[in-house]
Amino acid sequence: MNLFDLKGKVAVVTGGNGGIGLGMAEGIASLGADIVIAGRDADKAVSALATLRGMGVKAEFVSADVTKKAACEALIAETDRLFGRVDILVNNAGTSVRKMPQDYSEEEWHHVLDTNLTSAFLCSQAAYHAMKRVGGGKMINIGSMMSLFGAPYATPYASSKGGIVQMTRALATAWAKDNIQVNAVLPGWIDTDLTKRARQQVNGLQESVEKRTPEGRWGTPRDMSGVAAFLASAASNFVTGTAIPVDGGFSIAM
Ligand code: NDP
Repeated sequence: MNLFDLKGKVAVVTGGNGGIGLGMAEGIASLGADIVIAGRDADKAVSALATLRGMGVKAEFVSADVTKKAACEALIAETDRLFGRVDILVNNAGTSVRKMPQDYSEEEWHHVLDTNLTSAFLCSQAAYHAMKRVGGGKMINIGSMMSLFGAPYATPYASSKGGIVQMTRALATAWAKDNIQVNAVLPGWIDTDLTKRARQQVNGLQESVEKRTPEGRWGTPRDMSGVAAFLASAASNFVTGTAIPVDGGFSIAM
């Protein structure tokens, strides 16, 4: 029995063309799974595909705006067409708009909720039948420290990431009998395009994260590879509905 062998399996990673998504895709690819990365920016996918193919797996980019139900369905159908099956789905696409709560427009609220939460639901729904057909699967949703904590500049973001944890629990109970495990990962502060913008907009963020994190540093996308490999593999077959912080201790420190 090899708990960490994903050869012959196929993973879809939304937002896998960079940042945390690519770090997670690398973790899954390191166990031998072929990968479809989905996003809107095909240019950004070029180097991500080269990285994944360099690891000896097949990798393709599928253009998709995952806020749209039809795009999520087309993404899963295209993965099936390219590789013949879907075993693993990482719902990683995300965004943030940072403002005080009184200043958000209705459009900004929906944009963040649709990108971070609704997309994860729609892609999960689209992948369900494909996973059931192959006897089960693994879904990994990306929460945040904002699944646990609040911040004045993050009302829609924190709402969406809190929702991810509850959606994960609900889907896990619904699909356990289909041998589909659904889990969430709660990254700490990771150095990506998203948090480069945050550091420009939130005074002192760089230093306050370093100070509060017991490991004393920001995470890197590769810090997310191991948890993705675990949650995508047979090693986690009796783990479902959970939300695992990967945060250098940020969430357990005063
Ligand atoms: P990035 O901005 O680097 O990545 C976000 C990814 O989401 C991009 O690859 C983008 O691809 C994709 N994306 C955004 N909107 C859509 C859409 N409508 N359809 C398809 N793809 C989309 O940020 P991170 O890597 O930091 O973020 C990844 C996830 O991790 C997010 O869910 C974020 O909330 C979460 N997270 C990040 C933390 C951090 O510290 N960095 C901490 C906690 C959680 P494209 O532009 O091609 O569409």
